[in-house]
Amino acid sequence: MATKQLPRRWLYNSFGVILAIVITLVLASAGVVKAYYYNNVRQAMLSQANYIDSLLVRYSEDSSVDFYTQMRRTVEGFAEKERMELMAIDPSGKVIITSSGFEPEDTLYMPDYESALASTQRTGEYIGTLNKEKVIAITRLTEVNSDDLQAMRYVVSLTLVDRQIVMIIAAITLVGMAILFFVIFSSSYFISSIVNPVGRIGETARRIAQGDFDARLTKTNDDEIGELCDTINYMAEELSTTEQMKNEFISSVSHELRTPLTAIKGWGETLASGDMDQETLQKGMHVILSETDRLSSMVEELLDFSRIQNGRFTMNFDKVDIVAELSDAVLMFSERAKRDHIALEYQEPDGFAVMRADRNRLRQVFVNIIDNALKYSDSGDTVTVTAAISPDKFTVSIADTGIGISPEDLPKVKTKFYKANSTRRGSGIGLAVADEIVRMHGGTLDITSKLGEGTTVTIALPLMQKETKPAEPGHTP
Ligand code: ADP
Repeated sequence: MATKQLPRRWLYNSFGVILAIVITLVLASAGVVKAYYYNNVRQAMLSQANYIDSLLVRYSEDSSVDFYTQMRRTVEGFAEKERMELMAIDPSGKVIITSSGFEPEDTLYMPDYESALASTQRTGEYIGTLNKEKVIAITRLTEVNSDDLQAMRYVVSLTLVDRQIVMIIAAITLVGMAILFFVIFSSSYFISSIVNPVGRIGETARRIAQGDFDARLTKTNDDEIGELCDTINYMAEELSTTEQMKNEFISSVSHELRTPLTAIKGWGETLASGDMDQETLQKGMHVILSETDRLSSMVEELLDFSRIQNGRFTMNFDKVDIVAELSDAVLMFSERAKRDHIALEYQEPDGFAVMRADRNRLRQVFVNIIDNALKYSDSGDTVTVTAAISPDKFTVSIADTGIGISPEDLPKVKTKFYKANSTRRGSGIGLAVADEIVRMHGGTLDITSKLGEGTTVTIALPLMQKETKPAEPGHTP
């Protein structure tokens, strides 16, 4: 299972590296400890060798004493003989006196003596086994000029030293293992604090993907995992809202399509009966035509929306006088405003406001916003269209004294499918399309609103230049 991969990967990578480091440290410290102890023993033996040699040199130069007797006394009465054995070797390479008092063997194995003979330092060393015991042996050729003595040999058993070294290495290994266990323990705690929540997150994400938008994660920590839980919860909330909006959208669009179809069908049947006067015929034809217009504009809106979604929403840019487009759009609604008893106020600004724009799309934006202002206003309300031309921008605000939008809905009305008010007709995509068109013209569309007081939509568009004669319709610069 996927969740088991993380601990295994950690074991192979991090733990493997830590183990290698700990083993290397233990081995290195073992080497250092051994070198340190052996060196201490060697130094102690060499300082004894220096001392004894200088003593013997003095005896050899003193004619009042017998050198051989003094040498025997020195060896046999050697103060350190409990710790090291001292041997006197004659020029034939034979051990003649030992500090232990034992009769020396004739066939003593003395590689240190051989290397002292070959060495310019007059000193030879051997570390190895002698009589089944590990020893360090140092032979120093004497400076004494005598027929009785050629070298002194010092032998120290390494059994105790080695035991001590083994104990220290064992202690270091124990510390290393303790560190290792601590690392394993703390890391496995840490890893499980990641692996377990990740498993839960995966499980919940799968449920959300299968459509269970109520699935939520409980945030246990305030860390990155906690943040991920928050994000997944947020994603589930958003998906659930989108799902709900999509369902509402389908139902409102179906409703929107059904209403004109019912009217068209009803009038169609009436007209088909052929039993009517001229006035009824005119009225019927008018209803059929206007409802057909309504249907086709709705289908256009849906197509635009799907083009935006697919990234195939294109513009045909041309030099356009925005004032003319705005005035046309306002004029389109004057009849309807009068019919609905809503005051539609508009003061056309002086001059032209020329920009590179898609004439139809821009008019579609104005139509949509004014349509909304009227749609969400009631009899007696006022819709005011104000336009201002500055050297580089054209600003139009469409303000109504209608029903307004609540502060909770306001940030969402520009998003697709969002309908703050389901009592009035509409698909909930008009503002999303208008916002996209304005954005593609390099402009901005802002909405301010107060519930029960009214709404103001402000559109700002960048101008090419001021006071320029607009191009003829359809002319591409
Ligand atoms: P619709 O086709 O539903 O009008 P829109 O995208 O044009 O869709 O608008 C989205 C929502 O914003 C509307 O459902 C409505 O609730 C709110 N809205 C838009 N314009 C106004 C306005 N002038 N006054 C009050 N509410 C508005």
